[in-house]
Amino acid sequence: MKKERASFSIAGELIKPGQRRTVDIAAAKLYNRNELFMNVHVVHGKFDGPTLFLSGAVHGDEINGVEIIRRLLKMKLLNSLRGTLIAVPVVNTFGFVNSSRYLPDRRDLNRFFPGSPTGSLTGQLAAIFMEEVVARSTHGIDFHTGSNMRSNLPQIRAVVSNPQINEMAMAFGAPVVLDAELREGSLRKVAYDKNIPLLLFEGGQAMRFDQIPIRVGTQGVIGVMRHLGMLPKAKHNSKRTVPMLAKRSTWARAASSGIFLPHVNLGDIVEKKQVLGIVTDPLGEYEYQILSPVSGIIIGQLQSPLVHKGDAVSHVASIKDMDIAETAIDSFQSEFEIESRLQQYEEGYL
Ligand SMILES: [Zn+2]
Repeated sequence: MKKERASFSIAGELIKPGQRRTVDIAAAKLYNRNELFMNVHVVHGKFDGPTLFLSGAVHGDEINGVEIIRRLLKMKLLNSLRGTLIAVPVVNTFGFVNSSRYLPDRRDLNRFFPGSPTGSLTGQLAAIFMEEVVARSTHGIDFHTGSNMRSNLPQIRAVVSNPQINEMAMAFGAPVVLDAELREGSLRKVAYDKNIPLLLFEGGQAMRFDQIPIRVGTQGVIGVMRHLGMLPKAKHNSKRTVPMLAKRSTWARAASSGIFLPHVNLGDIVEKKQVLGIVTDPLGEYEYQILSPVSGIIIGQLQSPLVHKGDAVSHVASIKDMDIAETAIDSFQSEFEIESRLQQYEEGYL
């Protein structure tokens, strides 16, 4: 007979194979002696497999990932999990309760990994997350959204030259995979250095629940878990989006201060020098065009009409093969946008 799988140990607690439990990890102390916790839900499958962590709200106001993780944890599919899922819907509890990207010491958690137990408040939180979650995992997915009134097309940011990361990115099935550089102090960088393949998902904007990015994120995690053998392969041959790969991206900036009127939407395919929008003034006396710096697809877009000269308004990912881009965006739209409202209604979200 096969030996039973070992229990999963986290924050001094043991979770037996086939069990799931929420563990509250002490993250910090407030001024008033109250304790602040990072709530972690562990699903420890009966059978061996990878350990995948999911992290939301590392930036406390980027909350689509919180909802993605909540929806995943409701799914019956997890009953057949192989391996272990560590779900942390809110990593930056301070930021989440304050609707803020940052911690009270005004630091950005995603610039302070791996952190230190004797460092700043932010550094300490980074160190706790590294010790209790990242160090116990073999793979990870970190959820983000646009910031500063900017919304992002659902996209994966990953080091595509790493074959394991590239395969996970393709299995996720977001319309765009951006080969983004690793930033010092980011969770993605420290995971990469520790040889833990990690995807960063971007979708929607801060302080919103954007339905399409949430659906893409939820289906994306399931796709990655199927790819890693944590869930059974899909029974029917469901058509999934085949992502387009972008090697680089550029922001188009406002040519003047004023009122920004966009001419494009997220997901639009644009030519170099195409007009992305205009900046005018409240009297309508001047108009400056904003031109696309490259040919590609709009992956980020400012949602505010008020801009200063130099503000980033449209994020364009360079795409070489426009046919592949058209196919990817068409399949994305039919997979998520067209049926989305009906499905949301059926699932009780509308
Ligand atoms: Zn973020």
